[in-house]
Amino acid sequence: MTSVTVRVPAKVNLQLSVGPRRDDGYHDLVNVFHAVSLFDEVTASDEPAPREASGGPPVAVTVEGESSGQVPLDGSNLAVRAALALAVRAGRPPDVRLRIRKAIPVAGGMAGGSADAAATLVACDALWGLGAAQDDLMELAADLGSDVPFALVGGTAVGTGRGEKLSPAPVAGRFHWVFALAEGGLSTADVYAECDRLREATGEQVGWPRVADGLMEALARGDAKALGQMLDNDLQAAALLLCRPLARTLAAGREHGALGALVSGSGPTCAFLADSEDHATSLAASLEAAGVCRRALTAHGPVQGAEVVP
Ligand code: ATP
Repeated sequence: MTSVTVRVPAKVNLQLSVGPRRDDGYHDLVNVFHAVSLFDEVTASDEPAPREASGGPPVAVTVEGESSGQVPLDGSNLAVRAALALAVRAGRPPDVRLRIRKAIPVAGGMAGGSADAAATLVACDALWGLGAAQDDLMELAADLGSDVPFALVGGTAVGTGRGEKLSPAPVAGRFHWVFALAEGGLSTADVYAECDRLREATGEQVGWPRVADGLMEALARGDAKALGQMLDNDLQAAALLLCRPLARTLAAGREHGALGALVSGSGPTCAFLADSEDHATSLAASLEAAGVCRRALTAHGPVQGAEVVP
């Protein structure tokens, strides 16, 4: 049996600026992605599928770890879709078994499903000896979902369009984070719909999305204090309406000295910027002790995108 394991990071949006709803239902975004050290692992192997799986989906998948019971095992699993898409592109049968070990919260606004899809592209490419060009993988990734290309490259990057057109953002040093995991998840589609509804109800004039002044400079200087003040997410108001306890979680983080606090992507995970690794550790302990989250995890960023584990 041959197998390849790829680890892939979660993302937090340092800024998520959501433009008006387009005719195709999507929104133009400016999405400042930042990859953090919470990793899923995807192992692709050529081990034959067990007897009971024959007649099942062409790509066999198992999932373990964080909230794994909520991850679909059928063709709607993004990792399965990624393996099938790569096999079609390569003109070969999709014979593969995928084993996903999750640490990224499911439906948590940290793009865990997209991360698994990116990891699967890299793992299957290596397992099948395809040697696909990075541009080809990026194209397949963009077809799979707006957040998948970023999971391939990682680091910090500005995404435009639906979020899939990326340009890297230089960062000095490392930022320390705490992620407060909530009970249950939020559907990204529901949060966007709530955001549209809120905007319509308030008559808000929605401008063209753009990167906030000073954000790139704060990143390039490695200035956590300045970055903390600039964290901004246009989906936050909608996420807070759909999941009211999050307001308390954000407030608790600020009370315990977070340099910045925001809902990650479509939520419900909350992200807090700390001013050191030690501060992140104590902040996580305080959030758990305050009972405002299911768990609080520390991480740092930026980290590299999907990479084969030697
Ligand atoms: P988004 O990337 O849309 O912001 P998210 O980060 O909030 O999503 P995900 O963990 O990607 O959330 O899960 C969104 C939904 O996708 C889940 O409810 C789950 O049913 C489905 N899903 C499909 N494949 C996967 C996967 N490999 N891991 C996690 N969820 C998956």
